[in-house]
Amino acid sequence: MAHVAGHESVAFLPAVAAVAIFAQLLTAFLLFNQYRASGYPPLAVLALAYVGSAVLAGEWVLMIPHVWSVAAALGVGPQTSAWMFVASHTFFVTYVILYIFWESLCRRFTVFARRNGLPTLTAIAILLAIALPFALTQLQDSLPPTVDGANWSGFLLTTITPLLLAYYALAYGLLMFVSRTRTVVHLWLSVVIIVSFYEILVSNVFGSSRFSVGWYLGRAEWLGAASLFLLVLLGSVYRILLSLASHNATLYAQSVSDELTGLLNRRGFNARLEEELRRTQRKGENLTLLMIDIDDFKSYNDAFGHPAGDTALSTVARVIRTTLRRAADCGSRIGGEEFAILLPETDEPGALAVAERIRRGVERLGIVQGAGTHHPVLTVSVGIASTRIQPVADGLDLLRCADRVLYEAKSSGRNCIRFQGASHMLAGESSLAG
Ligand code: GH3
Ligand code: MG
Ligand code: MG
Repeated sequence: MAHVAGHESVAFLPAVAAVAIFAQLLTAFLLFNQYRASGYPPLAVLALAYVGSAVLAGEWVLMIPHVWSVAAALGVGPQTSAWMFVASHTFFVTYVILYIFWESLCRRFTVFARRNGLPTLTAIAILLAIALPFALTQLQDSLPPTVDGANWSGFLLTTITPLLLAYYALAYGLLMFVSRTRTVVHLWLSVVIIVSFYEILVSNVFGSSRFSVGWYLGRAEWLGAASLFLLVLLGSVYRILLSLASHNATLYAQSVSDELTGLLNRRGFNARLEEELRRTQRKGENLTLLMIDIDDFKSYNDAFGHPAGDTALSTVARVIRTTLRRAADCGSRIGGEEFAILLPETDEPGALAVAERIRRGVERLGIVQGAGTHHPVLTVSVGIASTRIQPVADGLDLLRCADRVLYEAKSSGRNCIRFQGASHMLAGESSLAG
């Protein structure tokens, strides 16, 4: 940028323009991504309004004498940059109006608006952004003057500016009456239109010339208008992130829990098993696994139907849940009528006590069984495996051990508990089974 005596203030313009253009491009980027996420074409039209405005604003700044070089870029005279200001503002508000009508077009002819309209609008936006400065440069001698010496010309003050302000008022009216400010986008867009209206008013009417106080105020309003929507979009992106995080947490909780019983499901159990195994192995502690299977459950279902079977499953799960007292204990439903319980840092007597409380708890429910079963009421068999008795390579190993021990309990008459490597008879075997 050239440094010219008397024009030090010009330095202010590229700085403000850089921020405003960056804000507009970022706004366009966010709007375009919202369009990609939602597939709602009017958002792409609004993105075009911002990206086109950013390009035209850059061209406008380059057209102002002393910003790029002593003469303005593209060899334009002092008249042309004011025309460029008018053109870029007209462009923005035209695209806002297109956005408003595109919304109703989308409601009526979605396919047309999606397939045909958007590429056409994009092409027009790009062409205008490229062609406008060249057209204005070509026409600069035949266009009415915008400056008169150092001041704005009477034509700019009495004709062009009122027309531009009226166009903005029209856009505001359309936002109010056609779109009825239904959404946050409409609401903030109408605020942007108001701020831009004041920008034109203060810089072209209260400011008598370029670099007057009114003109500076206009630049401040321009910065506001350019970044306002960005702040709104960033706020909405932040809200989306927060709700995504909470939805993710809910989804994860749902993906690891069993809907019928509220216990962990197989996926949750597997993750917890590996985690607890690694933790206890690291600390040199033991991990005990209880495998619980409802006895003759097929007969129960056959006798009373599946809905009654589901209720019985929930009831057994409730017994398991109320029996587990330590925070680290973890109950899960790992199959149809199979449950698994992880008891970290629990010794043999402790695990046996938990298993016996569950076995007896289910037996005491007194849920009448179907005909031809091993026991007259619903019962469970329990197999217990512990890493203290037999160290394991992974969770599956421990699960296999517990399953084998459970099979022993089943073949011993059911409604009983078996501990890996032990063959003691437990209280349950002498109760109902006889
Ligand atoms: P065992 O004493 O040897 O375990 O016999 P069982 O009948 O319990 O074992 P089996 O594996 O033959 O049958 C399991 C039955 O559990 C089959 C099915 O009727 C029932 N079942 C599995 N999942 C569900 C479920 O979600 N709801 C209901 N109601 N029944 C289930
Ligand atoms: Mg089973
Ligand atoms: Mg069973």
